[in-house]
Amino acid sequence: MPSDLVIVYHRQPYEEVEVDGKIEFRENKSPNGIVPTLKSFFGRFDKGAWVAWKNADDPSNPGFERVVEIEDQHGKYSVSRLPLTPEQVTSFYHVSSKEAFWPILHGFKERYNYDPVDWSTFREVNWAFAEAAAAEAAQGAVVWVHDYNLWLVPGYLRTLRPDVKISFFHHTPFPPADIFNVLPWRREILESLLACDVVGFHIPRYVNNFVSAARSLLEVDTQKREKVKDELNAQTSALSEQSVITEVAYDGRTVLLQASPVGVDVDYIETLAQSEETAKRVGEIREGLKDRQLILSVGRTDYTKGGIEQLESFERMLENRPDLRGKVQLMHVSVSANANMTAYQQIQEDLESIAGRINGRYGNFDWQPLLLISNPVPFTDLVAFYRAADVAWITPLADGMNLVCKEFCAARTDGDGVLVLSEFAGAAVELATAVPTNPFSHKSMDSAIEFALAMPEEDRRGRMKVNRAMVQKQDIRFWAEDQMRAFSTPKEKTASAA
Ligand code: UDP
Repeated sequence: MPSDLVIVYHRQPYEEVEVDGKIEFRENKSPNGIVPTLKSFFGRFDKGAWVAWKNADDPSNPGFERVVEIEDQHGKYSVSRLPLTPEQVTSFYHVSSKEAFWPILHGFKERYNYDPVDWSTFREVNWAFAEAAAAEAAQGAVVWVHDYNLWLVPGYLRTLRPDVKISFFHHTPFPPADIFNVLPWRREILESLLACDVVGFHIPRYVNNFVSAARSLLEVDTQKREKVKDELNAQTSALSEQSVITEVAYDGRTVLLQASPVGVDVDYIETLAQSEETAKRVGEIREGLKDRQLILSVGRTDYTKGGIEQLESFERMLENRPDLRGKVQLMHVSVSANANMTAYQQIQEDLESIAGRINGRYGNFDWQPLLLISNPVPFTDLVAFYRAADVAWITPLADGMNLVCKEFCAARTDGDGVLVLSEFAGAAVELATAVPTNPFSHKSMDSAIEFALAMPEEDRRGRMKVNRAMVQKQDIRFWAEDQMRAFSTPKEKTASAA
């Protein structure tokens, strides 16, 4: 049966577990994050489908089912799995996406590795995703494509299925034109995105960057208009630019660009934060701290996350502020997502080396200033650390949104805790009372963390109240509603937005 909603996302929406030689499909272990949110959309449509890739050494191996039917709390939906060879995965995902696009998207031109990119494989894989989506979609269906590694899908899909409504959500930053245009395939990418009906970004700055890149290369006309006013939109008045939709007229069609910051599942996190188990765990953590202040940092091991800059700032603090020695503890969780890639291995080694130096120089039998954790922390434990921490220190050099800082605020049902947040995280646009920091400046990094550690309770609570209100209001459901509204905008519009 064809589907009214087709989600195209590179990861599968479940975990495959082998039980007695048979493969079973299980709900993802983490009920947090984007996958459960996307799946929840299936409940709003008669029939849903998901298109993802599957690492298949031998796609023709007996028993491999290309399309599987899943039934879970969100209803019945099919999952179409593209069996990609290891060579295709390496080329499309690790080389093109991670070595070429990722650094450009985050503004790191010097890390951009162009030579090994095999553009024909990138095209071939994106074409396969588009074909699979076209095969699942009912007449006039919504096809919702996610992220830059599927940049070319909208363009291909538009030729295969002119009837469907295509929405694309960009989960990373979109860089200024001067940086984006470094990509030799820039025009093809932009033309594909302009084949969408809607393109969503986290914050207005990324929308504006996209518009300036499009203007620099293509004949486009743009115009801004207010989003449909309703109760939810009215609440966004604090972020006036966010209630604006940009219309781009190109090639006889109009594409809507909108800023829609992804949020977190506040209800779920609050319930977890207030549970007895969490309270017990927080008690244990605090007892272990012996009155020391806990600074918590959580992120992936990636040059965009500013881990090195943070550890160096912590080292300077211990050097310059002997009074804080023995009084603070930094727990730096940095989890490797692409451990097989040289760039990430190097960061891991650098983090370990600085951590060793700090602990060697300043630690003693009773106190280890820095706890570096490279293994993933289960989300339930993470919530206990969010609750136990005095300061969350989140310092990316570039980050599309950053959910950790929002999770920290959501977990602080006690109303305490200080958030120090990089100005270069998308979330900084929303979390106005976080202590801002610029990770490219030693002075800013050092003064922000010292300011946070010394902040009086009244100030802490006042700031947390405002940040929590924003995180509660713009939660994951708010984002979902915003996306749903975008889906229901008229599919075809005349190109009169000049
Ligand atoms: N996370 C986790 N355990 C860890 C580290 C991170 O569960 O040990 C989760 C964290 O709770 C958050 C996500 O990983 O939901 C990271 O999302 P974010 O947007 O901050 O960064 P990304 O990795 O997507 O760039």
